[in-house]
Amino acid sequence: SDELKIAVGAMEIADKIVEQVMTKIDDVFMLPDETILNAKMIAEIVRIGYTRIPVYSESDRNNVTGLLFVKDLALLDPDDNFSVRTVCGYHQHPVKYVFNDTPLAVVLESFKKGDGHLAMVKKVHISETVEDPSYELVGLVTLEDIVEEILQAEIVDE
Ligand code: ADP
Repeated sequence: SDELKIAVGAMEIADKIVEQVMTKIDDVFMLPDETILNAKMIAEIVRIGYTRIPVYSESDRNNVTGLLFVKDLALLDPDDNFSVRTVCGYHQHPVKYVFNDTPLAVVLESFKKGDGHLAMVKKVHISETVEDPSYELVGLVTLEDIVEEILQAEIVDE
């Protein structure tokens, strides 16, 4: 039954981690913060269709500094030629981060508490020569990715 499938799916996420359901970084639609929001660019962003877009600084996709919500564009005058940086600075939507090996149940809990429902996924790199660990952005995860995992789980009959 569908109910059983959902129950099994909910149990299965207990064994899964973020990197198994995230959207990989190469497939994430992001914008550099210097992007000018003219009419053409706004039309392009709306066409692409994501609700939220990570924004990066200094031409470094590893350096996500904000989130642009497509609804932030609704009241914008394209002739003002505002930059993404300016619009992000005005709204200040916080960027959440989770580690790639965080269990899905833990991410689901934090999505339930906050209002974000989207997190950037980072991976830690420990090197023997450099003292501080470095971080690499490896993807993006939303509530949708976890819900999908719950609904799609197959019951394996053994
Ligand atoms: P949206 O409301 O933009 O459709 P959802 O939270 O419903 O976003 O997620 C739908 C799918 O799109 C998920 O797999 C999620 O990881 C992915 N996704 C969300 N935002 C982006 C983005 N900016 N670039 C690429 N994939 C994204």
